[in-house]
Amino acid sequence: MEHDLLIINAFFYDPTWPVPINKGFLSINNGLITGFGRMSELPAISARKTIEAENTLAMPGLINSHNHAAMTLFRGLADDLPLMIWLNEHIFPAEAQFVSEEMVYWCSKLAAAEMIMSGTTTVADGYFHEDQAAQAFADAGIRAIAAQGVIDFPAPGVPDPTKNVSSVADFINRWQDHELITPAVFCHSPYTCSAQTVKNAKDLAAKTSSRFFIHLAETEFEVRKSKEEYEVSPVKYLHQLGVLDESTVCVHSVWLDDEDLQILRDSGATVATCPESNMKLASGIAPLKEMLELGLTTGIGTDGCASNNNLDLFQEMNTCAKLHKVKNLDPTVLTAREVLKMATIGGAEVLGIAETTGSLEIGKRADLILLDLKAPHLTPFYKPESLLVYAAGGQDVTTVIINGKLIMENRQILSFDLTECMKQVDRLSKKITKPI
Ligand SMILES: [Zn+2]
Repeated sequence: MEHDLLIINAFFYDPTWPVPINKGFLSINNGLITGFGRMSELPAISARKTIEAENTLAMPGLINSHNHAAMTLFRGLADDLPLMIWLNEHIFPAEAQFVSEEMVYWCSKLAAAEMIMSGTTTVADGYFHEDQAAQAFADAGIRAIAAQGVIDFPAPGVPDPTKNVSSVADFINRWQDHELITPAVFCHSPYTCSAQTVKNAKDLAAKTSSRFFIHLAETEFEVRKSKEEYEVSPVKYLHQLGVLDESTVCVHSVWLDDEDLQILRDSGATVATCPESNMKLASGIAPLKEMLELGLTTGIGTDGCASNNNLDLFQEMNTCAKLHKVKNLDPTVLTAREVLKMATIGGAEVLGIAETTGSLEIGKRADLILLDLKAPHLTPFYKPESLLVYAAGGQDVTTVIINGKLIMENRQILSFDLTECMKQVDRLSKKITKPI
């Protein structure tokens, strides 16, 4: 049988495997991984395209568990500010003024390019005009869990907040059967949505078997306000509303007490941790060591570009591992392998897609990346996990395959015109004449 794609002579690594394969092959057909093994075991198959991958490391594509892709437009617009001032005085006003359908399309596409070029093959996105984001991801060829935003004030594309949940229902309907896009619900936070809105949004997610994303316990201020208003922490508040379960993704989860951690574990809710965003906004450090000890399913996200300010998950993994070591004053906390799992299979579990992606397995979707090992900072090569987390960067990714399709080869994006996309985002940025 002729295959679509065959990768030969690569070093294959997957954090879920007990040992890597040095000099191996992997075959792909109809979007799926059909086989892999040592070169000595390569069956007599022909392929429409063969990638000679000597001196290359092949691994599962990275999964970004939390992003607001269109916010690439606001990269570097407002830095060095506390979250509530950053959000209320800079980001929300900028969004009210500059977020439009075309902005979301081009800026999400730019984000897709940045993610693809740094090894991300799946992104969980939450924003407004999410149809445009989903279209941008589909056109770019990146897998996405695209979640339309819910918030209790007039939002881009949803001027009437009473329609915030029904607009998500329409969005989910439109994207239900797409090969690359899985629609979902992004309920902004317990402090921007009323109890009724949160419950309605969760009901919709449950009814449509969709993921329910919510920013949760991001700052100490949020916890204090929640206790003043509801007499309980944000986690207990959501628990009382009945919205914590296996399909709820709690983004950030920085300020948790022991009881909160136990509630999250017992509910089966998952966590998307965003260390660099939490560091940049000085929100705090999530209790990741405790989460992993309790067995919480955890993925890693960059958050939007305005609070990071890039979407490179290799950099995020590096920061994440080091941050939790220094927080605990213990270098054994969060090993390179653990953080790689969070950025691959862990992310897939958080997003409910682990049956089809997140690791190199026969029958799973072919979402994988190749890194060039012939670089001074990657020499010598002892252990793949050490090299990937502590030495490599997104720029080392040369080739990206998503859903069995070659999306980037030799650092050239093949799925769309990147120059045109950057030109469009530059044009949009000119409308922002002065820093907000
Ligand atoms: Zn966020």
